[in-house]
Amino acid sequence: MSDRLIRATAAGGGIRAVGAITTRLTEEARKRHQLSYVATAALGRTMSAGLLLASSMKREGSRVNLRIKGNGPMGGLLVDAGSDGTVRGYVDNPEVELPPNDRGKLDVSGALGNEGYLYVVRDVGYGYPYSSTVELVSGEIAEDVAHYLVTSEQTPSAIVLGVFVSAEGTIASGGLLVQVMPKAARDEALVQTLESRVASLSGFTPLLQAGKTLPEILTELLGDMDLEILPEVQMLRFNCGCSFNRVLGALKLLGEAELQDMIEQDNGAEATCDFCNEVYQANREHLSQLIEDLRAEPM
Ligand code: ZN
Repeated sequence: MSDRLIRATAAGGGIRAVGAITTRLTEEARKRHQLSYVATAALGRTMSAGLLLASSMKREGSRVNLRIKGNGPMGGLLVDAGSDGTVRGYVDNPEVELPPNDRGKLDVSGALGNEGYLYVVRDVGYGYPYSSTVELVSGEIAEDVAHYLVTSEQTPSAIVLGVFVSAEGTIASGGLLVQVMPKAARDEALVQTLESRVASLSGFTPLLQAGKTLPEILTELLGDMDLEILPEVQMLRFNCGCSFNRVLGALKLLGEAELQDMIEQDNGAEATCDFCNEVYQANREHLSQLIEDLRAEPM
């Protein structure tokens, strides 16, 4: 099934729920960055989280950035997700691999570290991004994002994220976010019911691997609470906004002397995009043209 996101409400609008399947885009990130198993899980979970968070932002062009910095060998990662369903991201040390943890799962918190920070930037497109930082609570990502939503956005939230990856690649990836909206947030019993229901899910990927669809998963979780699944299905994909023209724009900023050096010493320039690992080659002619452009610009 293609990557997708669906939204729902329940309890008369007191609950907002979002589900996402991110298997293909996680596989694309794995291949592009040559991610280890544990790095695939870390980035896949965080890309799902970014898309789930971005899904509540209505304005066109809105984006969420999730930056994790930990004390583990993987270092950290960065995810950039848009309300348009696009996402991109990278891991600082993609080759780090660890044995499974004591529950037999990929050891994401061992790789990222259990001490560190999660930085969240929400850019709603008005030019004043809202940013916030929380300490990592587990390094497993779902708990960390939930902790951020509760403490920084004051929205009681339960989130489950999963990535199942094998020698054949990413088999299943996705997640689920359930939030109690402000008008119902004082309803302690409701908040606890949701938390325990989400916690009782045996993870997200087993549901996908059992062939369950997103509407079926949401119905299992909230079907008795006046669940209303919105008809719109949003397609999700890995997408990076980089281009050769942007690379040329960045090279131009280096100035004439530096560009001349590159022509004489390296016969060109090579730039790799952090987000998607695309390699761009600028040859002598490209660089000479940039110098001409610079000379033609008014001082
Ligand atoms: Zn790129």
